[in-house]
Amino acid sequence: MFNLELSIRDNIRSLTPYSTAREESKIKTIISLDANENPFVSDFNRYPESIPHNIISTLSNVLNVDSDSIFVGSGSDEVIDLLIRLFCVPSKDSIIVMDPSYGYYEVSAAINDVIVKKVELSPDFMLDYSKILLNIDQTTKMIFICSPNNPTGNLFDNETILEVAENFNGVVVVDEAYIDFSTSDGFAKYINRIPNLVVLRTLSKSKGMAAIRVGYALCSSGIARYLHKIKYPYNISSYSQKMALKAILADNSVQIEIIKRERSRVALRLSQIVGVESVFPSEANFLLVKFKDSSKVYDSLVKAGVTVRDRSSLKYCNGCLRITIGTPIENDYLLDILSGKCESRYESGVLFNRESKETNISLKVHKSQVWGCSISSGIPFLDHMLEIFSLHSGLSIELNAFGDTNVDYHHTVEDCAILIGKAIRELYRCNSNFQRYGYVLPMDESKTSLTLDLCGRFYLKWDVKFTEERVGDFPTGLIYHFFYSLCANAKISLHVSTYGEDSHHMIESIFKAFSKSLGLALLELKSEYKLFPSSKGLID
Ligand code: PMP
Repeated sequence: MFNLELSIRDNIRSLTPYSTAREESKIKTIISLDANENPFVSDFNRYPESIPHNIISTLSNVLNVDSDSIFVGSGSDEVIDLLIRLFCVPSKDSIIVMDPSYGYYEVSAAINDVIVKKVELSPDFMLDYSKILLNIDQTTKMIFICSPNNPTGNLFDNETILEVAENFNGVVVVDEAYIDFSTSDGFAKYINRIPNLVVLRTLSKSKGMAAIRVGYALCSSGIARYLHKIKYPYNISSYSQKMALKAILADNSVQIEIIKRERSRVALRLSQIVGVESVFPSEANFLLVKFKDSSKVYDSLVKAGVTVRDRSSLKYCNGCLRITIGTPIENDYLLDILSGKCESRYESGVLFNRESKETNISLKVHKSQVWGCSISSGIPFLDHMLEIFSLHSGLSIELNAFGDTNVDYHHTVEDCAILIGKAIRELYRCNSNFQRYGYVLPMDESKTSLTLDLCGRFYLKWDVKFTEERVGDFPTGLIYHFFYSLCANAKISLHVSTYGEDSHHMIESIFKAFSKSLGLALLELKSEYKLFPSSKGLID
């Protein structure tokens, strides 16, 4: 029978945890002179709540689990480390991990000087209960089971996991990082019944929040209490707490559905590619794929600008690469590279990599159900304008530029514009189903009137006189240059006329008007009017 008090390390049982004055005091005060913070208010001058009660109570509602049974960590990686430190005495105790499985259990154990015993999965990647039993001895304190398993992608069967948990005298950790992509609802429902069960979840995968580092454990209130005792005093930053709360409450089921749909599509297409030996069934957001020559495939993908995870050195994974499911356009690009094509144009969008002496830029532009934008040009004002462009045109844009901005902004502005122009050109070239014309009707307070035509010919009429030479450190003259380079490469005709008193506002209104117009021009024609948008039958 599992006994928590006998299972944890002696020194931790008797540990007096670090505590803060705000936790100790039950009364909420209005002046905080207890933590040596800088008193001048900003978003970040105060320490975060040491225990993120808002996240815990929201998770409790959403998952229908008692608050006492939830521990929030800085990623589930932190929780893995804390669990090992809670239960295992260094250089004496051991853990059992499956082989192949997620590598961090082993690394964390090694850091803590805890022995690792690897139990092989069967060749079809299933749990082998009798092998697990054979490896349990006096020193075994924990068993880590990852389901769906990383890197194999399969779920393990419930009965075997329950059998292990019910018959083992130590802690069984079921890592459910990928559960939202699977057909299972997981093991959270058993935590009240099985005291030695810890379920790990994370916001890094299905919730799309890897950057904020938030993961959590669902377990008995006793284990959660001990985890709170040994964690860093303020392990979740205020920013992460705020973002985590938003993400838990947000419904991103459309994204998850697209990823699952793409998983089936990519698996099928991969299985038809010469050189692919097998695509293992997956209930996660990745596929384990066995190639005839995985290192050659890996190199060719890297050369084409795609990173995947080489898992060929793991047990039963000889020749295997683990491929994360990307956006539809990223998946198309991957499939094209793997089948020997090197196209950059797809139905849903465009993907470019461009390297010159002065700049190195990657750009993805696509039209899809789920809008998203991530711009990093190295020029804050340009980022601001391109975010406006993405939002108002409805195009999802991911742009990463590294340019010689220390010399001048000119090259980066021009090269970003060239690539965006080329992307727009690809979005409407060969397409027979778009409105073609875009215009912003002048409204009372509007300063820009703008019309555009996706006609396949370059023309720019620019009637704009900026009132200042610079906005911050950004030369306003570069805006003309930006639109010139963009339209020349997009092969579009653009008429812009702007009046105003503040150059920042004038530029912003040009970007907004251009983006709205482009969004309109790229709109699909209604099905009953499905005519090619040029009387010539071709836009070139
Ligand atoms: N568990 C598994 C199975 C994982 O694959 C990962 C991340 N690769 C983690 C846990 C860690 O996730 P987090 O970002 O929450 O630390």
